[in-house]
Amino acid sequence: MDDALFDLPTQPALLPAERAVRTVDSTVENPIARVILDTPFSWPDRDYDYLVPEKLAEAAVPGVRVRVQFGAKRLTGFLRERGTTTDATSLKPLLGVLGEPVVTPELFDLADRIAARNVCSRHDVLRGAVPPRHARAEKAITALGQASFAHIEAPEPSPLGGLDLTAGTELLVPAGRSTWEAVAWSAQAALAAGSAVLIVVPTSLEVDRARAAISDRLPGEPIALIEAGTSPETRYRHFLSAKTGRARIVLGTRAAAFAPVDAGLLIVVDEQNDAMRDKRSPYMWADEVLRMRGEGRALLRFSFPPRIHRSRPRMVAGGVWPTVTRAEQWAGDQRGLLPPAAFATIRRGLETGPVIVSAPRAGYVPALACQRCGKKAVCQQCGTSLAVPTPGTPASCGTCGSSTWRCACGSSDLRAVARGSTRVAQELAAAFPGVGVESVRSAAQDSTLPIVIATPGAEPDREFAAGVILDAGSRLASLSLDAEIEAVGRWARVASRVSQHVLLTGGVPPHLAEALATRSIDFIEPLVEEREALGQPPFHRWFAISGQRADVQRLLGGIAARLEGEAPPEQGIAALLTGGGRQVFAAGIHIVGPVEDAEGVTLHLHEEAPAERLAGVLRATLQDLGQMAVRIEADPII
Ligand SMILES: [Zn+2]
Ligand SMILES: [Zn+2]
Repeated sequence: MDDALFDLPTQPALLPAERAVRTVDSTVENPIARVILDTPFSWPDRDYDYLVPEKLAEAAVPGVRVRVQFGAKRLTGFLRERGTTTDATSLKPLLGVLGEPVVTPELFDLADRIAARNVCSRHDVLRGAVPPRHARAEKAITALGQASFAHIEAPEPSPLGGLDLTAGTELLVPAGRSTWEAVAWSAQAALAAGSAVLIVVPTSLEVDRARAAISDRLPGEPIALIEAGTSPETRYRHFLSAKTGRARIVLGTRAAAFAPVDAGLLIVVDEQNDAMRDKRSPYMWADEVLRMRGEGRALLRFSFPPRIHRSRPRMVAGGVWPTVTRAEQWAGDQRGLLPPAAFATIRRGLETGPVIVSAPRAGYVPALACQRCGKKAVCQQCGTSLAVPTPGTPASCGTCGSSTWRCACGSSDLRAVARGSTRVAQELAAAFPGVGVESVRSAAQDSTLPIVIATPGAEPDREFAAGVILDAGSRLASLSLDAEIEAVGRWARVASRVSQHVLLTGGVPPHLAEALATRSIDFIEPLVEEREALGQPPFHRWFAISGQRADVQRLLGGIAARLEGEAPPEQGIAALLTGGGRQVFAAGIHIVGPVEDAEGVTLHLHEEAPAERLAGVLRATLQDLGQMAVRIEADPII
């Protein structure tokens, strides 16, 4: 939202008043082009009408990018449809058509539905779905002839029992090490049945894994890769390959969920990974997008645990999964780093292969406390936790570098309260002399040594014989409703790389160890019920609204006007905005907050189920108010 970029011209079309619709006479058939413009403003989100000149009559088909004059600016947009009528009093001609159609009717429809559901503009959806045009890539694809594909035989029976690809089914498949093999098998089965396949994974590392597995099984089969990290030319070429049917398999990261492919089989891997949710409007999760596209298709969710949905998923288990046991971290020798069970697990694992050790935090000693009173040691200059970054260095602040500290109790003696991955590596190297230990900090940084220490998210994606998860229960006490789901997800990332045995150490309740061992999602049930009882997503709708106080107030005033007397009058709204806490706004709709920061205020609107009118009211209000610098985040993570 950059007000300085340009101003929307005041034009009669922005007035909410009813306007006369007229039929336009022209030698061109359907001379009106309705265009969704690429403006920096989300609101109002409406089609703008332009006149199709004779010379563009053929090229200006629905789905193409067009260039238009808008006020003093030249903008691009997507041609939604052609027609004969308009309510605009004067029409400007389309200035140009940029290439082949890139938006399918399905994507326009999806943009409509997401805009209505998450209160965003349709262009917010299209911007993420269609990469910027690249003329050379377009030329290269257009020059290719008709695609021809190898005949694909149906595969051998499924490696996982009950893997059902019938249209309309949705399955949760916690397949562990077998995920990529099962993804490739499913792709073959779909191609053999005449369907295209769309696969969405969290990062480029998983793209590589999936591509390798598919290419092993289907050598020479073209795969369109929709990845944010590639060059604009490559990205556009692959996008057009999918759009023009030159690849029957489309694979990529989050934006690939919108890929222009009519796929009978949709696959999402690791759906609960943070990378699977938009960081900006429309704030959709990839699996939600696939589910919205999924009617009449099959959806496979290779995830454990799953994201919480209103309905309990059907599950297929199978594939490689290790045995799981648990041990108390400090049982036995209180001064030792690891319980004897951990040494035993590592030793046994090393007999057949490498071992992964998961440490929750990086660094050497990432947290310290007062030796005498146990109070957590934080920097007296800036409040950051003190840490010992490397062996032999004094405790210091990682933010400002200060190393002076004295506890309120008078003591200046510190003790370690957490062990970082470097410290774990050091102690394991001492315990297993000559074996080779290395700690890795990112998934891209693999190690060939037999014992690999990894922080969460940095687990190398290959097979280990055994795994030890240190301080596994360390974050279970956090206030997050989903702490248990996040913890089991973290452990499952390790377990999915291990063939034989995973040991959980440190404060893991038996039912969660059992959940990991059996890949059962029963443990989620109480959390789902809790979310429902507390009125959290996905059971109730929430919208976070941020902006300058005056804008947020104007928006609330507009909503109140639409709710016709149910909501407080405008002077009451100013009071609501200083109230804080939780207040009734209208029947079934609450205001939570606001909280204030340097950029303005943020408040939440919470609508009780089963009413689903808030999204519609919010969107209609924004349409009326027009250009406005407020940010609307649907279903924020709370
Ligand atoms: Zn103290
Ligand atoms: Zn500091």
